[in-house]
Amino acid sequence: MSRKSGVKCAYLNCGKTARSYDGLKMYRFPKDKSLCTQWVANSGNISLIHLTTDDLYKKRLCMEHFINNDFSNEKTKNLKKNAVPQKYEEPQSMKVLTPTKTYEGHPVFPKSP
Ligand SMILES: [Zn+2]
Repeated sequence: MSRKSGVKCAYLNCGKTARSYDGLKMYRFPKDKSLCTQWVANSGNISLIHLTTDDLYKKRLCMEHFINNDFSNEKTKNLKKNAVPQKYEEPQSMKVLTPTKTYEGHPVFPKSP
């Protein structure tokens, strides 16, 4: 049996596990409440909002949501104490199309009294 964790990354649209991605580091949500709130907000996963800090401590985010600056040690990939994941951004394809107004024939203006 593998001792590797099968816990999924809680980041929106990620869901990676250390089991399926070799060398993938997972990080627990911080116990510090205000920092933890920032992690939840940046993860884009709104289902985490209602969880307590203790419940969130069981959840993890993978290393892909952090930049080099967030690691205290680049080789071991240890997170700095106050590190916060990168903010989730909507995919480009989610852009809303605004319909352009076209007038067919003669435009109708309201009659002046
Ligand atoms: Zn992830």
